[in-house]
Amino acid sequence: MEMGDKEDVPFGPPPKYYNYRCSRCMQQHEINEAIIDATIGWAEYDGEYYEGFMPILECPDCAKETLEYVKD
Ligand SMILES: [Zn+2]
Repeated sequence: MEMGDKEDVPFGPPPKYYNYRCSRCMQQHEINEAIIDATIGWAEYDGEYYEGFMPILECPDCAKETLEYVKD
């Protein structure tokens, strides 16, 4: 993955990544929790958030909202 969001952080735990898979091209992506948190913030704002909600994200390859969270 080449999102350019893996930074060297000298202190604190490394950022958590979530497994996502595109339902269109079946490509797997690791999504930084900061992106998830921001998207959840928008869902809360729109009143779409619920317990256990995981946002659907845009696949960088397909440019469509087809990236879905994959449980381990
Ligand atoms: Zn895709």
